[in-house]
Amino acid sequence: MITINGKNNQHMLILKRGEEVVGSVTKFLRENGIKGGLISAVGAIEDIELGLYDFGKQEYKKRKFDDAEYELVSLSGNVSLKDDDIFAHIHASISNDKMELFGGHLFHAKVAVTVEISIIELGVMPVRVMDEDVGLPLIAKTL
Ligand code: ZN
Repeated sequence: MITINGKNNQHMLILKRGEEVVGSVTKFLRENGIKGGLISAVGAIEDIELGLYDFGKQEYKKRKFDDAEYELVSLSGNVSLKDDDIFAHIHASISNDKMELFGGHLFHAKVAVTVEISIIELGVMPVRVMDEDVGLPLIAKTL
């Protein structure tokens, strides 16, 4: 991972082939004490797991995309505190060799070529609190 710390609390992470995307972002956030933030990225990934939250069942329906490399067309997310630990909530849009698009909540992905991540630090930390109606910890306050 190459880290570029820019002006105005803006950062770039350049991930190398084989690195895990969500874990690498979380590691950077933790090691740098990032207080809240907005995440975006482009690149190419593989061994991907995406999900859709089923409100009725209150669980994620998951699908693996481990048959090929995919373009990471768009990744967006945010940084908050969940169970007193830093948490990156990330969604991703990916495309295959027919330029077909898939997307969802990103659980896991490995870098296939490169992933270029931008992080803008908020300076305040959104905090997730369990929402019993939804069945998920939602952003409810800030620290
Ligand atoms: Zn999500």
